[in-house]
Amino acid sequence: MSKQISIVISGYRGRMGSEAVKLVNNTNNYQLVAVVDRSYEGDHSTNSVDVPVYTDLDSCLQSIKADVLIDLTTPEVGVRHTKTALQYGVRPVVGTTGFTDKDLQEIEQLCHDKNIGAIIAPNFAIGAILMMKFSQMAAKYLPNVEIIEMHHDQKLDAPSGTAIKTAQMISTVREAKGQGHEQEKETLAGARGADFEGMKIHSVRLPGLIAHQQVLFGGQGQALTIRHDSFTRESFMTGVKLSVDTVVGIDTLVYGLENIIE
Ligand code: NAP
Repeated sequence: MSKQISIVISGYRGRMGSEAVKLVNNTNNYQLVAVVDRSYEGDHSTNSVDVPVYTDLDSCLQSIKADVLIDLTTPEVGVRHTKTALQYGVRPVVGTTGFTDKDLQEIEQLCHDKNIGAIIAPNFAIGAILMMKFSQMAAKYLPNVEIIEMHHDQKLDAPSGTAIKTAQMISTVREAKGQGHEQEKETLAGARGADFEGMKIHSVRLPGLIAHQQVLFGGQGQALTIRHDSFTRESFMTGVKLSVDTVVGIDTLVYGLENIIE
């Protein structure tokens, strides 16, 4: 029988968090032990869970014993929660995006100091991980790359964590270089998008979208497009489950599911 894993979810009433609640409730060896919200302290009568509701992760972890924190909140809260969980010896699985390199370095150090693992995944959709891996393969041969990421209009950070992660993975096989004409000029600021070592990243925000990305490669007389679409937030839950199952057995920070998917 699989080991029981007790879980706290923060951001549980959100679009991602509510899917995570369903995942935890529907998985035999997972037990939801508390949730963290920014309102409704102690009150679960109006919500879909029958576990204690806390408005502060510190108070929650002082009174509740948990193995894993799933955080699906906002960038600032997510960073704070990840550090707090590690301080209490609770392993974080973080889907919240918008973490900076400095945040990641501090969290990595904290994992080292506490000797426990954490997983931060800008994208939990397995198809999106494959899109990133395929893009990394393609960039070796087709180094002229532009990324177009498209999300719903309630997203707070831009470009998306997935677009940045894609660019970072590509940069391991591609020399930094400018793209487009040397003398190109934007007649409207931002027209060429954000710049990551010469790769351009364009962010689209529209109602109706969930999470979509195209990675476009151009070569002599040819073009290649690699595209992934998440049509529902269920698409992220296999990655959340894989992360929870993995995090309980590791003692370092893993940033990106591509590092645990062969
Ligand atoms: P959302 O619907 O706005 O949900 C965010 C939730 O966090 C809300 O319920 C919000 O509460 C709650 N929250 C805000 N501050 C809080 C605090 N101090 N304590 C506890 N909860 C707090 O957003 P979403 O679409 O679910 O996305 C959540 C995060 O996941 C974002 O960073 C998004 O970019 C990321 N994301 C990641 C993936 C992935 O695969 N890794 C996929 C999609 C989205 P209120 O309802 O009171 O505002």
